[in-house]
Amino acid sequence: MASRIPLVAGNWKMNFDHREATYFVQKLAWLLRDARFDYHACEVALMPSFTSLRSVQVLVEADRLKIRYGAQAVSVTTQGAFTGDVSADMLAALGCTYVIVGHSERRKYHPEDDANIVDQVRAVLAAGMKPILCVGESFEERRQGIELDFAVGQVHDVTRDLSSDQAAELVIAYEPVWAIGTGMVATPQSAQEAAQAIRADLAATFDEDVAERVRILYGGSVTSKNAVELIGEPDVDGFLIGGAALDPDELSLIARLT
Ligand code: PGA
Repeated sequence: MASRIPLVAGNWKMNFDHREATYFVQKLAWLLRDARFDYHACEVALMPSFTSLRSVQVLVEADRLKIRYGAQAVSVTTQGAFTGDVSADMLAALGCTYVIVGHSERRKYHPEDDANIVDQVRAVLAAGMKPILCVGESFEERRQGIELDFAVGQVHDVTRDLSSDQAAELVIAYEPVWAIGTGMVATPQSAQEAAQAIRADLAATFDEDVAERVRILYGGSVTSKNAVELIGEPDVDGFLIGGAALDPDELSLIARLT
């Protein structure tokens, strides 16, 4: 990996209420402190539900924790009559560093098409946060052998509408849909191939500098058992983790191995 600082991000999905979230953050911070974890060498971030963000913020500020946090989704509108929506400014006011955009579960269960995903990315950037843009093929595209084109195409659909300054702020998570929550992890070689192809596309769309700055994470059944091999690949800059991020011991171990 170049000079990019790796990121280990836990996507809690629809798990943990604010009390469980508070307990988790305390335990994770304690485990990492005990292990003398170097937050300058690897960033650790948690993506709780909206309902837990304020509790996480209060704890992080009170205890001056170096754990970062963010949201799992955002509205594309800034304010007004949009019942149930949460704006990027509201998330920024809660101290969020990151917002996940375009996770395959959001693409599946909510009307999030490419145009909406571009708007979310813009909204997150405009509020001073960093989008974690999720891309990745389903089993069908992999069967057809078009997985790289598919993932690169999903990135390109977003980046072609961004300036190079905006693109440089992105984090991209390559998450093959067939690997999410299934226990079937991509091989290090195929994670590297996808990350490399995405980085090459960034270089072609913008320049080498942007391509070198953007962190590309792998996601999909990451555990402490497969993290070391995956992070050994030059273009894999960390992980977006679902199931294994629900256990503070496991998450702290992955962070220490990254
Ligand atoms: P998983 O989820 O680690 O449980 O496969 C990853 C994700 O959905 O981000």
